[in-house]
Amino acid sequence: MPEQQSVPVIEGLLDITDEVGLIASVCSACEAIYLPQTSRCHDPLCSGVDIETRLVGRSGVLLSWTRQIYEPPAPFRMQDWSPHLIGLVEIENGLQVIGMLATDDESVLGYRADMVLTTRSLYRNDDGDDVVTYAFAPAPQGAAQ
Ligand SMILES: [Zn+2]
Repeated sequence: MPEQQSVPVIEGLLDITDEVGLIASVCSACEAIYLPQTSRCHDPLCSGVDIETRLVGRSGVLLSWTRQIYEPPAPFRMQDWSPHLIGLVEIENGLQVIGMLATDDESVLGYRADMVLTTRSLYRNDDGDDVVTYAFAPAPQGAAQ
């Protein structure tokens, strides 16, 4: 029986081969970070043409959170959907990313709490693979950022 794999929900969104990271485009001229990936710099004052791929968002701080109590419309898909926490997390260069939280315990959350990137299972695809998206988890106690 083939081993079950984890696969990203969207190709090019996150890298889960080693440590989890969001796949961003970075302008080599002005260091602007783009999520999702882009093929060019969108800063009208930047003449940069070289875009490199970089993994970002492995850690950040929580800015806000809420409990999502309605099931989002298609194409969102999640097996055994139930209300869950989502959060706004500030990562590199002040970039703010919205994502699911990997906890259902609001008592462990706080403004500017340290968060780390992880994955959260969404559903099992037709190949039996575990389809995952990124999620932010409270950083382990004592893990300085
Ligand atoms: Zn640029």
